[in-house]
Amino acid sequence: MAATSHASIRSGDGVSTLAGRWPLLGQRRPLVVYLCAIVALDLAAIMVCAVTTVFQWRDMLTFGALMACGAVCIEATRRLGMPAGVSRDLLSAWWLPVALLLPPLYAIFAPIVLQVLLQMRVRATVLYRRVFTSAAIGLAGCTASVAFHRFVNDPWVLSQGSGPPILYAVAAAVLFALLNIALIAIAAHTADPDIAWRDVLWNRESLMLDIVELCLGVTVSICCGLNLSLLILALPPVVLLQRSLLHAQLQAAARTDAKTGLLNAAAWQREADTEIVRARRTGGTLAVLIIDIDHFKRVNDAHGHLVGDQVLVGVASTLRTQLRDYDVVGRFGGEEFVVLLPGADGREARQVAERLRALIGHMAIPVDDHLVRVTVSAGVALMSVHGDDLIDLLAAADLALYRAKELGRDRVCIPVVQTPPPGSLPNDPNP
Ligand code: GH3
Ligand code: MG
Ligand code: MG
Repeated sequence: MAATSHASIRSGDGVSTLAGRWPLLGQRRPLVVYLCAIVALDLAAIMVCAVTTVFQWRDMLTFGALMACGAVCIEATRRLGMPAGVSRDLLSAWWLPVALLLPPLYAIFAPIVLQVLLQMRVRATVLYRRVFTSAAIGLAGCTASVAFHRFVNDPWVLSQGSGPPILYAVAAAVLFALLNIALIAIAAHTADPDIAWRDVLWNRESLMLDIVELCLGVTVSICCGLNLSLLILALPPVVLLQRSLLHAQLQAAARTDAKTGLLNAAAWQREADTEIVRARRTGGTLAVLIIDIDHFKRVNDAHGHLVGDQVLVGVASTLRTQLRDYDVVGRFGGEEFVVLLPGADGREARQVAERLRALIGHMAIPVDDHLVRVTVSAGVALMSVHGDDLIDLLAAADLALYRAKELGRDRVCIPVVQTPPPGSLPNDPNP
C-alpha cells in the first residue's frame, strides 16, 4: 500500500492538495522533527533486522521477482504520467507479499527500491517526500511482517490455502494499512494543523482502494507461495487496475487547481452551471461570491512568491473547511476565489461572506519570526435578483467586488438593484 497514496487520499481532495499543503520545511519545525524521527526509526529498524536476518537464495529470488513486477507496473503506467504531487498506486500488490513471505528486512527495502524507480522513471519530486514515503511504508511493512511471522512460523504455508494463515495474512495487511495511514495522516496534520483529522484519516473512496489492495496483496502472496512463475499471471490484471486508477486520478487532477486543491476555473464553471440550471428548474435560490485577497501584490513583494503561495493555500483551506460539502468552491485565477452557495438567499449569502471575510482576516501565516495576515474583499450576487445565468451573476459579483475595493477593501458588497418604478431610490443593502 503506497504511503503516497494514503497521503493524497486521506487529505480529502486529491493528490496535488497535500503537495500544496506541505509547507516550506524550514518554516515548520514540528513537521521536520516528525519526518526525521520516522526516517531515523526506519534506519534503526534496518540495523536491527540486518543483524537478525538469515539470507537465503529463495528469499532473494522472491524479492527480486516481486520487485521486477513492481518495476513492470511502474513502466507500464509511466507514459500515462502521474498527477502532480502525491498519488495513489497499487504497488502494495508487490510489497505486501514481501512483508508476508520474507523476513522483515525485505519489507523495509521494498519501498526504497520502488520509490527510487518512481523518482527516476516517473517523477522527480522533492527528495525528502520520497525518503519519508519509503520510511513510512518500510516501517508499516516491517511491523506487519514481524506480527505475521510471530503467529505463522512458516509463511510459505499460505499457499496451502488453510484458513488460519490466510486470516493472519489479512490481519497483517490491515495492520500494514492502518500504520501506513496513521504515519501519513500525522505528517499531513502536522504540515497543516487546520485539516480535520477526519479528512486525513477517512475517505470512502480510499477505503475501497485499501480493500482492493489488501485482496490483491494476499492473493499475490498465495500465488507466490504456490509457484513464483505464477506472478506472470498476476501481473497483467494488476497493471490494468493500476492504469485505470491512474487514469481516474489524472481526470480528477485535470479539474483541480494544483496550488490550492480547489476546483480550477473551468471545472468550477461547469459545476456552477449545473447548479444554476437546477435552481432555475426548481425555482430555488442561489448566490455567487467572488472573493479577492486585498493588496496581495504587497505580500509577494514583501515576503516573496512562496509565502504568497502559502497565503493562497491558507485562504483556500479556510474556504474549504468553512463551507458545506455541496457549496462549489474554486480558484478563479491569481488571488481570486469563487464560491457558489446553492439554496442561499441574500441574508444567508451575506452572512457566509462576512464569516469568511472575518475568518480569513484572523488567519496568520508564520514567516520567520513574524506572522503574515491578509484581508479579503467579496462581491455577492443573487440568482434572479442580479442575473439568471452564470455570466450575469459573475459580472454582478465582480461589480460588487470592485465597489468593495473602492470603499476601502476588507468588506462584503452586494450590487445595487435598480427597482422598476422610475424615480424610486436604489435598494442598496450595503452599509
Ligand atoms: P487589490 O487589493 O486591488 O486586489 O490588490 P492586489 O495587489 O491583490 O491585486 P493585483 O491584481 O494588483 O495583484 C495581484 C497579485 O497576485 C499579482 C500577482 O503577482 C499575484 N499572484 C497571482 N497569482 C499568484 C500565485 O499563484 N502565487 C503568488 N504568490 N502570487 C500570485
Ligand atoms: Mg487582490
Ligand atoms: Mg485580483
